[in-house]
Amino acid sequence: MKILVINCGSSSLKYQVLDMPSEDLLCKGLVERIGMDGSVITHSKTGEDKVVTEVPMKDHTEAIAQVMKALQDPEHGVVKEMSEIGAVGHRVVHAGEKFARSVLITDEVVKALEECVPLAPLHNPPNLLGIEACKTLMPGVPMVGVFDTAFHQTMPPESYIYALPYEYYEKYGVRRYGFHGTSHKYVSFRASQMLNVKPEELKIITCHLGNGASVSAVKYGHVVDTSMGLTPLEGLVMGTRAGDIDPAILKFIADKEGITLDEVDTILNKKSGMLGISGVSSDFRDVEAAAEDGNERAALALKVFAHRVRFYIGAYIAEMNGVDAIVFTAGVGENDYFMRELICENLGNLGIRLDVVKNKVRGVERIISTDDSPVKVLLIPTNEELAIAKDTHWIVTQK
Ligand code: AMP
Repeated sequence: MKILVINCGSSSLKYQVLDMPSEDLLCKGLVERIGMDGSVITHSKTGEDKVVTEVPMKDHTEAIAQVMKALQDPEHGVVKEMSEIGAVGHRVVHAGEKFARSVLITDEVVKALEECVPLAPLHNPPNLLGIEACKTLMPGVPMVGVFDTAFHQTMPPESYIYALPYEYYEKYGVRRYGFHGTSHKYVSFRASQMLNVKPEELKIITCHLGNGASVSAVKYGHVVDTSMGLTPLEGLVMGTRAGDIDPAILKFIADKEGITLDEVDTILNKKSGMLGISGVSSDFRDVEAAAEDGNERAALALKVFAHRVRFYIGAYIAEMNGVDAIVFTAGVGENDYFMRELICENLGNLGIRLDVVKNKVRGVERIISTDDSPVKVLLIPTNEELAIAKDTHWIVTQK
């Protein structure tokens, strides 16, 4: 069965078609500048060069229509007609407490996701637009929602309750939810396959280190804690996000700079993190190049990032009373061997021994700890689209 995977942002849309259960990637693409001048679709059929087409797309429905056109293109397409697409899997960022797993999208599901919009005002609306557009253009094709928050729903209350007046949780759902769940789930299960040990027997710490970054403690197949919170701002230092800070800083900076809380919020999300400390860039490649050239703030940013990851690793070892495996994934986790080395430095007493030679690789699945390391360290490229396609295929073939 051919599965179309859709990941809708506010002005962009990523898609892939995978054949399931063989897991073959047939094509992938990206639509950019939806609703703006210069809308463009970049389509690549597996094994062929990219085809870039500029075409006006005033909304997500027109964007999906262009995706359908690309999929059926006689030269670069992967289907003769859309009826060959058996199901659509949609990435949805926030499902609140409503869904702990992927579900078939019905009118009730859409309503529940609309109710989650206040929790993810930037992300859920475009996700919902993608769902609506597919419903209009591909009537009758089953759709599945795969949620970033779902895998974290197994967290116990002591991990997700903030020490705020309890009524904020009851009235507004203010609690920790966690994100990147599809990635944490995918890499933790891959780790269990690579180690040939059942998930129910493993304590794993998964480090999704990309432009956005989060760490999860996965005990016996279930998340018991994760570093992101009500929003993706909490936790690790990220490309442009501050991660954990003393909350009193918000008012302090607002008073000192004479700016509003909205402006402080933008600073915490867009001007902080690696960019904020280094003053160079949010991209680790730029920050590392600057550090090599002697830029001290760039070097400091890298140390602060590694320090925060180590902090969470230590906390999660304590929470799970041990750890069997640590997984690195996403842009930085998969490619940046210097950062992995910095994070794993001097953790030998915790049983974590990185093999610096095996570690010197990018983007391949590999065990990168020494053979005698009690804790295995794994490098696993994440594949959220494959995870979405798997869930979608499983749900639509269940009877
Ligand atoms: P992601 O959000 O998972 O796509 O990760 C994107 C980030 O990965 C970029 O902003 C870079 O900071 C980082 N990255 C990608 N490739 C490398 C590399 N070769 N070395 C260091 N960092 C990298």
